[in-house]
Amino acid sequence: MSLPVYKPGKAAVQAEEEHGITDAIKLASNENPYAPIPAVVEAIREAAATVNRYPDHGAGALRGAIASWLGIDRDRVATGPGSVGLLRQVCMLYLDPGDEAVFPWISFEAYPIFTTEMGATPVRIPLVEHAFDLAAVADAVTERTKLVLLATPNNPTGTAVSTTAIAGLLARIPDDVVVVVDEAYREFADPALGDPVADLVPHHRNVVVLRTFSKAYGLAGLRVGYAVGDPELIVDVDKLLLPFSTNSLVQAAALAAIEHFDDIRPRLELLVAERHRLVRALTGAGWKLPDAQANFVFLALGPRTEEIYLALERQGVVTRPFPGEGLRVTIGSPEENDRFLATLAEVAAA
Ligand SMILES: *Cc1c(COP(=O)(O)O)cnc(C)c1O
Repeated sequence: MSLPVYKPGKAAVQAEEEHGITDAIKLASNENPYAPIPAVVEAIREAAATVNRYPDHGAGALRGAIASWLGIDRDRVATGPGSVGLLRQVCMLYLDPGDEAVFPWISFEAYPIFTTEMGATPVRIPLVEHAFDLAAVADAVTERTKLVLLATPNNPTGTAVSTTAIAGLLARIPDDVVVVVDEAYREFADPALGDPVADLVPHHRNVVVLRTFSKAYGLAGLRVGYAVGDPELIVDVDKLLLPFSTNSLVQAAALAAIEHFDDIRPRLELLVAERHRLVRALTGAGWKLPDAQANFVFLALGPRTEEIYLALERQGVVTRPFPGEGLRVTIGSPEENDRFLATLAEVAAA
């Protein structure tokens, strides 16, 4: 089987070695620039004392906490090893050889990888001006389509679709086609776009929402995400959970993150404010950017992508290139963002 390989963003140390530089910064993987809040670190430390025991496979306490946080029944929630873990479970559940999964493209690179892994065919629907064309997605659904995968906000373009728009898509496709709404960046987006858990899940048994603690909550290194959907769908997704893969440290950390969300919120607000600042600065300098709703900006550089990417990296600013499309730049700390802006201005002037 020839599988495409998942390419993680380049580490700062790797860029330093490649270019013989020091002080590189990584704005390549949409990570949170801030270390976890003290309450989360403390919870991990405490849980570390009992890792001789297996974790609670079903992560009951965490599921319960997520459910009450969202105001939904607990049987609508599954947890797993990152939202990519849950996404893979969904793909295993619904995709067989010969089936099709439809998704806008460019989007999250795990989509074609998991689709291909299951022997199914990825059907990529081109973006229009860096945004989703949901009418074209609906048109592409055939009797072989089992899944529709929508990342909103989209990675890497940062554009988002509203729950109203997704409801329009749902009305146009058969209700045995499962629609995954991948909200890895939800917390950074305009709340006016709606909440699929409240707006879609109660009315559509074929909608599954994926969320994560990796980005907004700063727990990327731990691996914990959750799925919300119809209880029957959730039971089936859950059957494919690798035993104990939501480990004890992860469960403790995610519980603490929910409990102490008030300590996390200011950081989130700062990152969104920084995104607004970057968008203003970049548009002011004449760069073309699609609407940014996540914790990154997308410079639509087209054929200049690789040249600018390399020039930035030689100056120690590591971003993520999408060849021929554009450059995705994660929102970092204010100092990191200043450095990116200054370096980009230098590179452009050269
Ligand atoms: C980062 C990302 C994820 C992965 O989240 P994990 O919970 O860390 O697995 C999922 N979907 C999209 C679109 C992402 O960009």
